[in-house]
Amino acid sequence: MWKAVYENDGSYDGIFFYAVQSTGIYCRPSCKSKIPKRENVYFFAAAEEARRAGFRPCKRCRSDLLDYQPIKEIAEKAKRLLDDSFRKSCDLNQKLRQLGVSSHRMVEIFQEEYGITLSEYVSKLRLTEAKRLLSDTDGRIIDIAYSVGFAGLSSFYRFFKTGTGVSPAAYRKEYRK
Ligand SMILES: [Zn+2]
Repeated sequence: MWKAVYENDGSYDGIFFYAVQSTGIYCRPSCKSKIPKRENVYFFAAAEEARRAGFRPCKRCRSDLLDYQPIKEIAEKAKRLLDDSFRKSCDLNQKLRQLGVSSHRMVEIFQEEYGITLSEYVSKLRLTEAKRLLSDTDGRIIDIAYSVGFAGLSSFYRFFKTGTGVSPAAYRKEYRK
């Protein structure tokens, strides 16, 4: 068990927990927190036993949750996924579902971690990229609309005007380098 702890071996998660005398906290074997001194460590077969012995759950590995949900990791994965594929409107939700949490929970996790909703974040990415393409390239506006994930010109115009206060053409006129 000690070997699993100092190697952060996730295959033992749920099989036992360890608690650290000096901090009063109990963790899963895979917890990435600082490796404790061996003489301070106690082992428990269940989280409940560790709690009864007076230890508190770790905020980092959430040793109090039955289903292990490394919140930060899921949020980061979602963000990377959006960064990579915001240009394709269709399959974002499907890809997000593959991260293994419900879409409702995903919205909560993302907002907790980054302070904005998933759709606000995607809009931000699309707007930034659209502005860049308008000011840095001579690409046609319809092509720019497609390339940032819009199915047509009118929805792109509405989106762009809401985000910037001006039309894509006016924006380009003002900022084309
Ligand atoms: Zn922990």
